[in-house]
Order: sequence, then structure tokens, then C-alpha cells
Amino acid sequence: MAEYSQAQEAALRRMAEHAAELPVRRPVPGEAALTAQWQDDHGDLDSWSEEIVLGYAAAVAQLRADAVREDRLRSVEPDGCGLCGIPRREHARRWVSPAGWHAWVQPSNDQILARMKARRAARATNSRKGGAR
Ligand SMILES: [Zn+2]
Repeated sequence: MAEYSQAQEAALRRMAEHAAELPVRRPVPGEAALTAQWQDDHGDLDSWSEEIVLGYAAAVAQLRADAVREDRLRSVEPDGCGLCGIPRREHARRWVSPAGWHAWVQPSNDQILARMKARRAARATNSRKGGAR
């Protein structure tokens, strides 16, 4: 049986706590509405066929993927690297998948615009909620 030192146990505990906080574990905005919609369309969860369950899972996965992408976009400064989003002053050379090793790349006008819009939308959402989040 494995014996852990105090430091190892503390590290394991931290990892477990951290895992519980991963964004993917939290319901994303719109998930409750999506579930309600599917229950309206297909009846109680218990009565769903495998096909319906798979369709629902795919819809939730898409919702989560969109939320994560939005979240990432929001945290990127408009002039962040065109490949990885890291600001120029702290970029140097980086490895990111799938771009590989690269120096800071001028973001396209579309990227800058999308990032500015995402940040503005995030600010508007936060002030509507009174900053509570
Ligand atoms: Zn980069």
C-alpha cells in the first residue's frame, strides 16, 4: 500500500480541490434552459432513449465548448499574439499547439475586433450583475 509523506498528501488534497473548481464542472450559462427545453421536447429524463441522451450530451458539449471559447476570448488582450493570445511584452518565444514554436504574431483586425467585443460584453454582463460573480 502506498504511503505518502505529508507534503505529498497536501499536494494530492490540493489537486482534488483544484479539480472540483475546473470550469467544465460548473454549469455554463444557458445549460439549465437547454435542459428545460429538451425536457419540454422529450419528456422526463428517465424516459429518454439512448439517441435522445446522446443528442442532449452533444448539445451540452457544444454549449460548454462555446462558453470556454468565449471565456478565453474575454481574457485575451486585444493586441495579444495572433496565434496564442499572449501579450507582446511577455511573449518571447512560445510553444503552443498546434502552432508550435513562434514569436509574437500581429493579430488580424478581425481578431482584435472580436477580442474587444468579447471584453466589452463581459464588462456589460458584470456591471449588470453588480460585479457579483
Ligand atoms: Zn503567440
